Amino acid sequence: MSPRSRAALLSDPATIRRQFPLLARTRLHYLDSAATAQMPEVVIAALQNFGTTLRANVYGGVYKLAREALAEYEAARADVARFLGAASPQEVVFTYGTTSALNLLAHSFGERLREGDEIVLSILEHHSNTLPWRALARRRGAEIRVLPMTPEGRLDLASLKDVVTAKCRIIALTHCSNVTGALTNVAEIVGSARAVGAAVVLDGAQRAPHGPLDLQELGIDFYAFSGHKTFGPTGIGVLWGRGDRLADMPPFMVGGQMIRRVTPETAEFADPPRRFEAGTPPIGAAIGLGAAIRWMEGLDWGAVANHERRLTGRLLEALAGLKRVRVIGPVTTEQRRGVVSFTVSGMGSEQVCRRLDAYGLALRHGHHCAQPLMLTLGIEGAARASIAPYTTEDDIDQLVAGLAEIAR
Ligand code: PLP
Repeated sequence: MSPRSRAALLSDPATIRRQFPLLARTRLHYLDSAATAQMPEVVIAALQNFGTTLRANVYGGVYKLAREALAEYEAARADVARFLGAASPQEVVFTYGTTSALNLLAHSFGERLREGDEIVLSILEHHSNTLPWRALARRRGAEIRVLPMTPEGRLDLASLKDVVTAKCRIIALTHCSNVTGALTNVAEIVGSARAVGAAVVLDGAQRAPHGPLDLQELGIDFYAFSGHKTFGPTGIGVLWGRGDRLADMPPFMVGGQMIRRVTPETAEFADPPRRFEAGTPPIGAAIGLGAAIRWMEGLDWGAVANHERRLTGRLLEALAGLKRVRVIGPVTTEQRRGVVSFTVSGMGSEQVCRRLDAYGLALRHGHHCAQPLMLTLGIEGAARASIAPYTTEDDIDQLVAGLAEIAR
């Protein structure tokens, strides 16, 4: 999948870390990559280069600068397509993030739903993969059915047979929970969906930052992720859809850039992906995302996954030894990513993270946009540490030391 030979792939965590100017300049223990990852030098350079040598609008300009900007924008689309294992770049729609991708989908693909149709979500979902579907259900008179979780904080796939009925049209689930870090077994979901003719949507916001995918192989219909979590800029995201699905969908937003022909009375729309990219797109951010994808393709993901797993194991083991600390989610490194949420008894998550901030530790607190999950767990929120390729053992050890101090 990667254009580079294996030997040239980057595997050394210290070398990887040095490519991140913000991390190199500060002594910060940045453990919030699940919210927003840092950008490597090559992405920052691509953004700078857009501003200094490429900035022009895409489509409709025949002059050289406009042609170059368009070529780079479309090259970024091809980068994303390769990373996702898409059949064609035309299956890649640029959006503003995961949230805008899922809203687009609910407003476009979702408008076909009829009264009584069902949408399956899970209790683990981020609000971005809940609220657009709930709003759609209200508009179309559809029903929402919710897949529960196991005590370990995974999707309870054994319940699929009860939750997915013949009326199910859409199954929209997380590929990796932003709270528990649990990875989803997609094959079982695809099997249930196919049996009833439902489409499978995966929220890949927390999985895409962990290396290339093969979405065709997964057999799903739609995938969404955000650029700022995959080492790219903010303001850019992706909706991938199978070509036949996208071809059949009406636009969500209408306006410039997405039409074939408009008369005083009628409008014909362009083919995907342009049909779904109304208005001037985030051109520079898309080009920056292309650079981030190529940077990710330059990593040895086997080595990076081992590094992340080792750090996740180190953290989980240390947390298990702290009396007042409780991990929310799987307590081993099996089938999970390095997104580790925890509570400290007798202390709110905001207080925990404020105290950790004093030690130079950057963690997220609160409900993590998963309030239904927090209500189910009976907690107000949790502190969350997330691990990236540039995270070091020292980051983890300082977190454990800080926690031991404040939980004393
Ligand atoms: N889905 C999941 C699982 C997430 O973790 C996030 C962001 O935290 C989102 C969706 C929303 O992403 P964005 O804010 O980039 O649209």
